[in-house]
Amino acid sequence: MGSTLIRAEQVVTLDDADRIYEPGYVLVEDDRIAAIGPQAGLSGRHFDETIDLGPRLLMPGLVNAHTHSPMVLFRGMVEGHSLFNFDGWYNTIRVVEEVMTPDMIGAAVGVSCAEMIRTGTTTFADQYFWMDQIVPQVRRSGLRAALAYGIVELGDKAARTRELAAATAFLQSMQDGGRLRGWVGPHAFFVDNSEEAMALELALAQRFDTGLHVHFGTSGEEERYSQSHYGHSAVTQMAAMGLLQQPLLAAHCLALPESDLPLLSATRFTAVIAPSSFMRNAAGLPPLLALRRAGVNTALGTDNVTNNNSYDMFKEMQILGKLMALQHRTPNALPTREILEMATMGGARALGLEDEIGSLQVGKKADVIALDLHEIGWAPRNGQDVYTALVYAVSGMHVRDVMVDGTWLYRDGAWKTLDYRQLVKALEADAARLAHASRLKGDL
Ligand SMILES: [Zn+2]
Repeated sequence: MGSTLIRAEQVVTLDDADRIYEPGYVLVEDDRIAAIGPQAGLSGRHFDETIDLGPRLLMPGLVNAHTHSPMVLFRGMVEGHSLFNFDGWYNTIRVVEEVMTPDMIGAAVGVSCAEMIRTGTTTFADQYFWMDQIVPQVRRSGLRAALAYGIVELGDKAARTRELAAATAFLQSMQDGGRLRGWVGPHAFFVDNSEEAMALELALAQRFDTGLHVHFGTSGEEERYSQSHYGHSAVTQMAAMGLLQQPLLAAHCLALPESDLPLLSATRFTAVIAPSSFMRNAAGLPPLLALRRAGVNTALGTDNVTNNNSYDMFKEMQILGKLMALQHRTPNALPTREILEMATMGGARALGLEDEIGSLQVGKKADVIALDLHEIGWAPRNGQDVYTALVYAVSGMHVRDVMVDGTWLYRDGAWKTLDYRQLVKALEADAARLAHASRLKGDL
């Protein structure tokens, strides 16, 4: 692939020293960052190609740490329901999932990937079934992803055996060490995955040296179950089972007792916060500031876009900041730099990729996005702190260029790996088929 020098008016590294270069450059060699610095530091460097992005801001790509990419197919179909309680889910998602067919997955995943790329996400963590349909489309998109094989077994031994065997085959097929990693995806511990299943899922994650991606603390059901069955909290039980020794992506964490936080610090547990999803589902708020104070890793995700209804992680950052200020009655209760950290390094750490992505640093993967500084929202540049602008003034629609592994996925406002119009056309046809099939089923 050779070397490419990318120049831009502003380079925001989000590294530990908060380095910002105006103007600055990033030198990409093959799939990694070979050098980075101020324009003046360029002498003596050799490169095959120079790209001057001009009035753009370069920064690390964002990490969407929790979503379900096929569910874009259901976008808007569950209005007025909460997917965070059993009735809401049972009467909406279950109905369409029962008539959904595997041939509807490809276009949905393609549209999801295109929307994530368009709005500056370069890595995402997914959890769903039909991974055999998901993997090829994500691979085509060029995105980096942790794809968790979704498991629901409800204490059924036959289902457990079948699902674990399929998850094992899936993980075996994901051992090429590329951009896509296989994860284990128990839908929810204690709720729809029994203790027997959890132990086997942990063993599977250990065998393949990977993580578990679950929903946790969505409604308090795990907590009630654990208290009545074990006489202690769900986190205590998970710790006793050894689950905190593997990377554990725990989406939501709304019902998480603060007394459990010391157990979670210095473990590989990550609380993934999905603020739009919490608000749209009228679900509540997690103890986010307490989690961060306790030293628990936290990351940001969109959750499914069925009722988000957007993959724009810039919007999620903005909503999170405003929500925290309101919750704590304190302006900037969660500072903008910390919000950006959750959307970059927090997600990288969650996926065990902190040495590879999450900031612009020499030796890391070239996962870079560029935002248009001539778009609305930035002025006056002298008055507005750049982190504040990124969280509160702009959106993912300011993104003009996206690179993953040194390859452009979106360049100067055009998708390079996916045909977005074609994917939308196919998704529209699939959504019509799905609506027709669920009406037919309703008539039976
Ligand atoms: Zn979810």
